[in-house]
Amino acid sequence: MKAGRVVRVAGPVVVAEGLARACLYDVVRVGPLRLIGEIIRLAGDEAVIQVYEETAGLRVGSEVHDTGGPFQVELGPGLLGGIFDGVQRPLPVLAGIGDGTAEHPFLRRGHDAPPLDPERRWGFEPKVGVGDRVTEGDVLAEVQETPTIRHRVLVPPGVAGRVSAVGTPPARLADPVVEIEGHPIPLVTRWPVRKRRPVARRLGSTLPLVTGQRVVDTLFPLAKGGSATIPGGFGTGKTVLEQNLAKWSDADVVVYVGCGERGNEMAEVLEEFPGLTDPTTGASLMDRTVLIANTSNMPVAAREASVYTAITIAEYYRDQGYHVALLADSTSRWGEALREVSSRLEEMPGEEGYPAYLPSRLAEFYERSGAVQTLGDPPRTGSVSVVGAVSPPGGDFSEPVTQYSLRLAGTFWALDPDLARRRHFPAIHWGRSYSLYDLDPWFEAEVHPDWGEQRRWAIDLLGQEEELHAIVRLLGADILAPEEQVVFRTGRLLREAFLQQSAVDPDDVYCPLSKQFWMLWTIRRTHEILSAAAREGRDPEELFALSAVARLGRARTWPPAEAEDRARELVALLTEEVQAR
Ligand code: ADP
Ligand code: MG
Repeated sequence: MKAGRVVRVAGPVVVAEGLARACLYDVVRVGPLRLIGEIIRLAGDEAVIQVYEETAGLRVGSEVHDTGGPFQVELGPGLLGGIFDGVQRPLPVLAGIGDGTAEHPFLRRGHDAPPLDPERRWGFEPKVGVGDRVTEGDVLAEVQETPTIRHRVLVPPGVAGRVSAVGTPPARLADPVVEIEGHPIPLVTRWPVRKRRPVARRLGSTLPLVTGQRVVDTLFPLAKGGSATIPGGFGTGKTVLEQNLAKWSDADVVVYVGCGERGNEMAEVLEEFPGLTDPTTGASLMDRTVLIANTSNMPVAAREASVYTAITIAEYYRDQGYHVALLADSTSRWGEALREVSSRLEEMPGEEGYPAYLPSRLAEFYERSGAVQTLGDPPRTGSVSVVGAVSPPGGDFSEPVTQYSLRLAGTFWALDPDLARRRHFPAIHWGRSYSLYDLDPWFEAEVHPDWGEQRRWAIDLLGQEEELHAIVRLLGADILAPEEQVVFRTGRLLREAFLQQSAVDPDDVYCPLSKQFWMLWTIRRTHEILSAAAREGRDPEELFALSAVARLGRARTWPPAEAEDRARELVALLTEEVQAR
């Protein structure tokens, strides 16, 4: 194809002329360094290109080459455990990165590293034989990609026919696993990132993404295939929460995208994850994780690409029949990149300078979450759950990215600066957060029949405590009737012994569901016993000084297998102590 010429350079945006037959979203290579870019607008003979690499030194007159197709990611075994930049170049050296490097710190500009190792040989087990009729989504072969994940090689969308040959393992990525009507199907496939991968149908979300975080699972659960947004100002715990979900949630596969945030946080993930074990499978966490890093010191335009790369990889594992969690920290940095590119394009700014298409871009992202029936045989279900952190400037939730995100996501975990200041972590505010997923039937069948009722009790009690706080602030604590004092103190217990959860205490980082249930059960029984005693004229202050109550404050250290016994023992002790006075 005929080369075009650069006519203007404005930060990450380049305008070129003379690119004949270029299409919107075609990938182009710009200048002598062959920088990677994408056409984001076509007008007459002019193509507007967002360049995913640092454009310093790029000159008017430089050549621009159209690759003739949209940006695609490479999909195949070897993604798990991988670390990639926003345009899926491997970043084997990420562990060494720091902040503030002006030049791209990892790869030479214009570098063409294949995302996956083309030479590695993979054993595979064919699942079809010569003569079998196959259609899109059917499983052709399985590869043991990591100890826990069997990678399913699928008939690509749009392909069908009879198997005409079956390859012999091992295979390199480009080697055919089978041939369909003479057409080779290699181990690796590609997919344009802006396009959703097709499914047979979408399913309702009935399973929770179990996170081991009490305030999440018990109060504001996220469905597998659901979406959540975590708005919070600086230092309120967004990154710690995203990382906790990456570590402990019961997803089969985790795709973590660090978008415009500090590089050292990604480096921490890399240092920490290989040494941690998945609580469900016991395998190393890196065996189920894909990291996409487009950190604050990397080019802004590639932030958008990093989000699309991540969601496409997530859909690919979903289609194999897995539950995937996509964790994005932070979607605000992507929004800011859209704003910067839009202002370089001199587009009409919308709210707070963001482009008018901000809400539709966010919607396209959140709407790629979902639980699905996949295409093909054998029948499989899979899901992509999306959790996006939002960093509103000044912690002000009325700003556009927060507002649009909360309209799109089914779960809203509102991080509160006052809670964070008081070191109440996770700083998820119980009064302002919500979950629209009704997962009680699952919890009641799998954990305890009283799950939903107990959760409603806790939310109600926290609401009552909040009201009492307002009264106490005005009139002092003496105004409260004894039973109100019990509510007041139980609320505190609930916050401190249950909702707070340390991300660093090894006994507390992950709390299994049954332990969550029995901890809350104990608090509720305590509340009932002490309310009854207060009604009989006992002094609430004295009641809450009983040693059983103090022990309840340490319930987080209960060994999970003993939670029910410990809970019942504690309630028995409390009953005894109340009666002994
Ligand atoms: P943000 O990403 O919102 O700016 P971070 O996630 O980096 O904030 O959290 C800031 C700090 O808050 C952490 O360095 C840590 O000290 C503390 N923190 C947050 N969540 C927890 C938690 N669950 N347990 C203990 N400390 C936490
Ligand atoms: Mg952060």
